[in-house]
Amino acid sequence: MSQQDRQARKRHRHGAPDQGGRWGRQAGEDGPALVFALAGNQNSGKTTLFNQLTGARQHVGNFPGVTVDQKVGSIRGLKNAQVVDLPGIYSIRPFSAEERLTRDFILTQRPDALINIVDATNIERNLYLTLQLLELRIPTVLALNMMDELHKNGGSVDVAEMSRQLGIPVVPISASRGEGIQELIAQAQRVARERLLPERLDFCGPGPVHRCIHAVSHVIEDHAEQHRIPSRFAATKLIEGEPALAARLGLDPNELELIEHSVVEMEGDSGMERNEALADMRYAFIQGLRASAVKKGDESRERRRSIAIDRVLTGKYTAIPIFLIVMLLIFWLTFNVIGAQLADWLAQGIDWLAGITDGALTAFQMNPVVHSLIIDGVFAGVGSVLSFLPLIVVLFFFLSVLEDTGYMARIAFVMDKALRRIGLSGRSIVPMLLGFGCTVPAILSTRTLSSRRDRHMTILLTPFMSCSAKIPIYALFAAAFFGGNSALVMLALYALGIAVGILTALVFKRTAFRGQSTPFIMELPNYRFPSLKSVAILLWEKARDFVQRAFTVIFLATLVIWFLQTFDLRLNPVADSGTSLLAGLGRLMTPLFAPLGFEDWRLTTSLISGLTAKEAVVSSLGVLMQVSMADLPQALQAMFTPLSASSYLVFVLLYTPCVASIAAMKKELESGWLTLAAVIGQCLLAWAAAWLVYMLGGLIL
Ligand code: GDP
Ligand code: MG
Repeated sequence: MSQQDRQARKRHRHGAPDQGGRWGRQAGEDGPALVFALAGNQNSGKTTLFNQLTGARQHVGNFPGVTVDQKVGSIRGLKNAQVVDLPGIYSIRPFSAEERLTRDFILTQRPDALINIVDATNIERNLYLTLQLLELRIPTVLALNMMDELHKNGGSVDVAEMSRQLGIPVVPISASRGEGIQELIAQAQRVARERLLPERLDFCGPGPVHRCIHAVSHVIEDHAEQHRIPSRFAATKLIEGEPALAARLGLDPNELELIEHSVVEMEGDSGMERNEALADMRYAFIQGLRASAVKKGDESRERRRSIAIDRVLTGKYTAIPIFLIVMLLIFWLTFNVIGAQLADWLAQGIDWLAGITDGALTAFQMNPVVHSLIIDGVFAGVGSVLSFLPLIVVLFFFLSVLEDTGYMARIAFVMDKALRRIGLSGRSIVPMLLGFGCTVPAILSTRTLSSRRDRHMTILLTPFMSCSAKIPIYALFAAAFFGGNSALVMLALYALGIAVGILTALVFKRTAFRGQSTPFIMELPNYRFPSLKSVAILLWEKARDFVQRAFTVIFLATLVIWFLQTFDLRLNPVADSGTSLLAGLGRLMTPLFAPLGFEDWRLTTSLISGLTAKEAVVSSLGVLMQVSMADLPQALQAMFTPLSASSYLVFVLLYTPCVASIAAMKKELESGWLTLAAVIGQCLLAWAAAWLVYMLGGLIL
C-alpha cells in the first residue's frame, strides 16, 4: 500500500466526506482535516511548490527522471491540512499510469481542493490540462507559477480576467522565491471549506463538438450520477474512446450506439477526427484566453543560451558522439575512480567489523552454526551487497546532475527516433543506462515512462544491460583466459547484452507488445546549474532505499543461500562444502549445463549463489574450490577452455541478475506470474545464447 493510500485510509477513519462531499461531523478543534492535491505539467514547479507548502526537501529536477514517487506532506503553519504531490502530466487520457493515477486519485479519493499549478511562461500547453481538470468538478485554485520569470522577460498576465474566464481563483506565485504562497494557501482553504466548484463547465463554442458533448452527456447522465463520476468528464472521455469507462458506467449496447452515432456525426460535421476535434475545442478556448489576458514575455536569456548550447549538444552530427563521451566519462569515474575507491573503503570497513565480530564470537565460544550464520551469512551476504552502495550512489549522483542540468531531456529527445524504431520511446534510455550500473534502480525508474506498454517492455529489456556487479566475474575470467584481450572481451560482453536487448525488443514489438510507443511530448527545459542541495537530497533517498532493500529482500535471500550452503540433506552442518544442500542442487543441474561446455557442479552451484548478487559468483567459486582469491584464476584454468569460459560468461551476462532485481520487477510489473515468466525467459535465453556461442565457437576454432 502506498503512503498515499494509507493517508487516504486514515482520512476515512477520521470521517472523510460522504456522498454529499461534506465534512463537518467530526470536525476537531482545528477544524476538519483538509486534503489538497497538487496537479500540473512536468517541470511546472510542482515539487518546488510542494516543498514551499510543506517545508519538505524533495528533489527538484529539470526532467522527469529518477524522482517518480508521489509524496504527501502537511502544510506548514496550517493544522490538519495535507497536500499530495501528484505526478506531472500533460493530459488526462488513460494512456499512462501517471495520468490514470491522477484521475483516479481525484475521482476516488476526492481531495477537498485541487491546486493546479501552471507555468506562466508556457500558458498554452499548461492550460490544456487545466481544462480537463475542471471537468472533474472539484474545488480548484490555479497557481500561476514562474511569475518572476515572466515579469523578468517583460510579460504579464491579467489575473482577474483569467480567473473570470476560467471560473476559478487564479493566484500568481513564484514557487522558487516563495512569493504568493500565503495567498495561494488562503484561496485553496477558501474553496475547500466553502466547496466552491469551478463556476464554468463549458469551454466550447457553439458547433458540432458542443452538440456532441451535450448529446453524450445527456445519454450517460444517470449512469454518471449513480457512479459519482462527473458527467461532463465522462462524456469527453467516452468521446475520446475509453472502453473501460463505458464498462464502469454500465452503459448498455443501445446507449453505446447512441454515443458512437453522435461522435460520428460530429466527425462528419467538423471534418476532424474525434480526439482532434476535442483538442481543437480546448485550444480554441485557450487561444482566446491568451489573446485577452496574457502578454507573452520575450525569449529569456536562458532560453537563448539553451538554444545555442543545443546547437552543439543535440546537433545532427555532434549529439551522439558527445553523448557517448559523456556516458563513458561517467562510467569511468564511477567504476574506476570515485566509486571504486569508496567501495574499497566500505569493503575494508565491513571486513574489519566482520573480523572483530568473528574474534568476539570465537572468544565467546558461540555455537558454530550461529557463528557461521553471522559471519558467513550476514556479514558475507549483506556486506557484499552493501559494498555496491558507493557505486550506486556515485552513479545516481551523475545521473541526477544530468537530469538537473537538463541534459537528460536532450538525451531522451535525441535517442527517441532510434529507440522508436525498436518499439521503445526516448524515455526508455534512462532506465537502460541505469541498467549498466544496477538493474534495481533501473527497473524502479521505469515509472517515468508514460505508457504501460513502454514501461513493461523497458523493464523486461533492462536486465540485459550488463550491470556493474557482473564486472568482477568478467574481470576474473578475462584475466584467467584472455590475458591481453581482456578489455576486448569485456566490451564484447557489453555489446552482446545490448544486441540481445535490441533483438528482444524487435521480437516483442512484433509479438507481445504490438502497437506504438507513446509520442514524445516534452519541451526541452533550459540548461541550468544543478542545485547541490537538491542532488544531495536525492542521493540520500536513493542510498536509504538501497540499504533498506539490502536488509530486507537481499538479507532473506542471503540467509536462504547460507542455509543451503551450511547444511546437508539431514540438516547436519557440513564439514565439506561439497556435501551441502546447495551443492546437491548444483549437481542436479549439472546435466543441463553440459551442452554449454561446463559440467562441474561447483560452476552450476556458483550460478545459483549468483542469484543473491552477481559478484557472489566469484566468492562462492573460491569457497567451493577451496582456493584463495589469488589462486582462483589458476584453478579455473583447469576447469575451462577459453571457449567454455566464454559460454559461461555469456550465461552470466544474460541470466536473471539477482533477487533484488526480481523483487523490483515484481513491484513494477505488478504481476507475480509475469515476473516468473520473465525470469524463466531470461534463463532460457541465456542458455540458448551460451549454447550458440559454444557451438559456433567450436565450429570456428
Ligand atoms: P516539477 O517537475 O513540476 O516538479 O518541477 P520542479 O519543482 O522540479 O521545477 C522545475 C524547474 O522549475 C526547476 O528548475 C525549478 O527550480 C524551477 N522553478 C520552479 N518554480 C519556479 C519559479 O517560481 N520561478 C522560476 N524562475 N523557476 C522556478
Ligand atoms: Mg517534480
